[in-house]
Amino acid sequence: MQPKQDYKSTIKIKVSDLTHYMICPRLVYFRARGYEQPRIAEGRERSAIEHILLKELGFNLHKVYGGDRYDEGGGEEKTTEEEAVKQVIEDVVDSVEWIYKDELKTVDKDLFEDVKNDFLHSIESPGWLSKLKTEDELAELERSYSYEREHTMLSEKLGMVGSVDKLIKTEAEVIPCVIKTGRCPEYGVWRSDRMQLAAYAMLIEDEFGTTVQRGFVEYINMRTADIRESHIKKRDRALAFQILKYVKKIKGGVYPEKGANAPCDSCSFIEMCDTRKTLLSKLFGK
Ligand code: SF4
Repeated sequence: MQPKQDYKSTIKIKVSDLTHYMICPRLVYFRARGYEQPRIAEGRERSAIEHILLKELGFNLHKVYGGDRYDEGGGEEKTTEEEAVKQVIEDVVDSVEWIYKDELKTVDKDLFEDVKNDFLHSIESPGWLSKLKTEDELAELERSYSYEREHTMLSEKLGMVGSVDKLIKTEAEVIPCVIKTGRCPEYGVWRSDRMQLAAYAMLIEDEFGTTVQRGFVEYINMRTADIRESHIKKRDRALAFQILKYVKKIKGGVYPEKGANAPCDSCSFIEMCDTRKTLLSKLFGK
């Protein structure tokens, strides 16, 4: 007779489950039960395309910052720095429809072209370009050591998998970096982003046998590109570890309370989710 497998040991939690939990724990519940959210919600096509364009720009910011002053193919020198930067941005925009084929397959072609043109117009403005800080440490690290894109890690010990946007390996450090296209905080890094970096840090530590001290968040949106360094603190690790445990329980069948700031108005699970507050959640102020 085959030994009975403990279902809990077979569940692999994704780092994205942890970030979903922070938005609303029930998102984890419904997704674990096979309900899918549309990749691009109706009426949000424009912002979804902008998100993709910004994300890809984030992967190429080191080139925009000044790494690529020459054509990669022909070696023809650009006449001005601004032209070189614009060429990098246009190449990024051109690449998107091939890299994000799956995400963009339902998007209307005319809308896509419109958003691309508006995007180029905004991003190539002197105002946006002037926000780029050429002395930024992350850009310097990427120029010196390059980075691995979407490096996937799996920890059997944690029962967790994750694919970090950028992984930089120096002689002394392994550094995670995530790209965020939402609002940038006035100072530092949002709590959920610190938790996400801590989760990647734990995966890196298991894979590389090192201790991760810091990570970076690239906040890139239509107004600015801001790079923030974040020291990975014990409280961030503790939060990531605690949420990992909660997510395991939810995937095991526990139906959670809704999140304190759950975005129910724009949630595709609204029809199947009782969003009224329970007496218990009211008592505990959730
Ligand atoms: S409807 Fe609200 S409570 Fe339910 S899963 Fe969506 S965000 Fe969470």
